Amino acid sequence: MKNHITTEQLPISSPLDLAKPQSAKPSQSATVRLEELSTLSTQYSRIIIIGGNHDRALDPSCDERDATLYNDLDARIAYREAFDNTLGVTYLCNNSTIVRAGDRMLRIWGSPGSIATSRQTAFGYTAGSMAEELWEQTPKDIDILITHGPPLGYLDGDNNLGCCTLLAALWQIRPLLHVFGHVHQSRGRCVLKYNSNQAEYDTMMLSRKKREEIDAEEVKYTPPHLRAAGESSGAISMPEQMTKSGGEGLY
Ligand SMILES: [Zn+2]
Repeated sequence: MKNHITTEQLPISSPLDLAKPQSAKPSQSATVRLEELSTLSTQYSRIIIIGGNHDRALDPSCDERDATLYNDLDARIAYREAFDNTLGVTYLCNNSTIVRAGDRMLRIWGSPGSIATSRQTAFGYTAGSMAEELWEQTPKDIDILITHGPPLGYLDGDNNLGCCTLLAALWQIRPLLHVFGHVHQSRGRCVLKYNSNQAEYDTMMLSRKKREEIDAEEVKYTPPHLRAAGESSGAISMPEQMTKSGGEGLY
């Protein structure tokens, strides 16, 4: 078997585009997408898909919040059932599937999670314990990881919107391929070697992110008359797996 995995961008509508005009219900855009997937499934032997932060109709935790806005709960439930039964489409939501690639079986794990930036975020989570709980459940023996949100520092935009905990999880899992989206302007690809250079870069990124979080907390909780001092805490808490050693010893 060749040691190559090829990826292809499928012409599927963005939920953002489908949501226009603003009056469109999430279940309406979801139904259009389901029809597109049904068509695509005739062209491919297997399609594996995850949700993202705009897929409100897929996230049951959005139902109550959206009920007064859209009144489309029945349509959402029908959509989810149809989605599960669409031939050739495998929907992953913090679970895995196996695909055959030549003479090898590949285990693929998919998660719709991304760091929540507002109450409108479907499948959103916050940094810290919620992020740890999410990424701890990802098995270590997977071959391909699919997530909606990026890891910190890689294709995650100028403001580094990626997740610290997902980056730490990558060091443990080291998948053959990690496919993710979310930060539109950062589309592309990069190769991770998990060597000393990467360890140095990742540690720097984690340190900077922690300091930003500490500063943000200080702005949030420090009385205004004390903010001008600009003092920030020197204590930076690093994930243990990134600080045990530099380079190849990391796991
Ligand atoms: Zn997104």
